[in-house]
Amino acid sequence: MRCLSAGETLVVASHNPGKVREIEDLVRPFGLSAVSASTLDLPEPEETGATFAENAVIKAQAAAVAANLPALADDSGLEVDVLEGAPGIRSARWAGPDKDFAVAMQRVWDEVARCDGASGQNLRANFTCALCIGWPDERGHTFEGKVFGRLVWPPRGDKGFGYDPMFAPDGHLVTFGEMEPQKKHAMSHRAIAFARFVDAYLTTR
Ligand code: IMP
Repeated sequence: MRCLSAGETLVVASHNPGKVREIEDLVRPFGLSAVSASTLDLPEPEETGATFAENAVIKAQAAAVAANLPALADDSGLEVDVLEGAPGIRSARWAGPDKDFAVAMQRVWDEVARCDGASGQNLRANFTCALCIGWPDERGHTFEGKVFGRLVWPPRGDKGFGYDPMFAPDGHLVTFGEMEPQKKHAMSHRAIAFARFVDAYLTTR
């Protein structure tokens, strides 16, 4: 299996500034030089997969081929138990063309209220992240991570991105939006997937 070494350039195959920031923070300690898909002006492929993993492969492969460099893609989202996993792979789309996550969070809350009737007790949710390392000439390899917790309303905190202000991980009163980034990075779905990627590609050499 291929490995990545300090000094190599890795494309972060995302146009989402929140994700790019988190992935850059994760790869920096390994001496990799990260460059985002937006900086390279790479086209955004259509996410036609039926799972997080399929979409991560599509994005990693497209970026690796376009940049002729290894590329790390992230497909992730919020899964709400009472909504049978929605918004899931449609998490970004629920924010609409303006990528307005106040709108997306309100929609999640409205749908939970509708599905859960008057009780409003089932607030279990999780984030899932599939990371795929893609190569210009070889099919990618995918790693998954999940973090479990509960929905919080109204949303709280402005430190994260996306649905962070309405999600509190198990064992914590604060939301991801209120948590210091380093603390979120130590426990998030992305951090768990990243640790699996590190085990396979960065620490065994
Ligand atoms: P995609 O993977 O580009 O399709 O977008 C996933 C969407 O899920 C993002 O735009 C966020 O709204 C949401 N999401 C993924 N990871 C996180 C996270 O760590 N915090 C909050 N929202 C997230």
